[in-house]
Amino acid sequence: MTIPLGILGGMSWHSTVDYYTHLNEAVARELGGHHSADLLLASVDFGTIRAMQVAGDWDGAGRLLADAARRLEGAGAEAVLIATNLMHKVAPAVEAAVDVPLLHIGDAVARVATRDGLGTLGVVGTRWVMEESFYADRLARHGLRCVVPPAEARHRIDEVIFSELTLGVVREESRAAYAAVFAELAEQGAEAIVLACTEIQLLVGPEDSPVPLIDSMAAHAAYAADVALGAAVAR
Ligand code: GLU
Repeated sequence: MTIPLGILGGMSWHSTVDYYTHLNEAVARELGGHHSADLLLASVDFGTIRAMQVAGDWDGAGRLLADAARRLEGAGAEAVLIATNLMHKVAPAVEAAVDVPLLHIGDAVARVATRDGLGTLGVVGTRWVMEESFYADRLARHGLRCVVPPAEARHRIDEVIFSELTLGVVREESRAAYAAVFAELAEQGAEAIVLACTEIQLLVGPEDSPVPLIDSMAAHAAYAADVALGAAVAR
């Protein structure tokens, strides 16, 4: 038996599938046999969320995810997670809507980085994650510093996420473009690259980077699995 978790997923569903796999695998590894994670999933329509992102309707998106989180809590979730980096932009609205803890993806990434003794991280993700402060600020709470790619590279990274990865499309040409950005970030002092979008691990692997990669989806799922198993405390 594990502590029931509520996942706010579907953003996009291609990465929610990975969360589901990782959470169940972690619980099976720890408890053995047929054990699997006790999960509740609110899988939203990403078309609606994407339209709100493009329109800049973050209050509306916050309300939508807060409602979904309330439903998860009402159905028995004892902690909730937002299975995307970008939508942590509205994490305060989600946190305010429920009494159970929100397992923040930034804390999950920081857990890996501090375990590995890292200080400076290259961050690649959607444009808001790279350009606004909400993500870097969360990492800074753990004493971590972020470097991001230059404007043109940020544009390309974001374009690949929304024109390909969140639609389940993986292209070799985009993998090479990401690898070139990772190399530049390493030259700028990044000791590791945070895949700060939960679909990027579908495109690249450790062989594409001169420095280690921190997969935010895997880090978040591992943190959530530890909470589910009672091995980590939800902040
Ligand atoms: N899954 C992506 C992320 O981790 C982007 C999709 C989205 O939430 O808009 O940021």
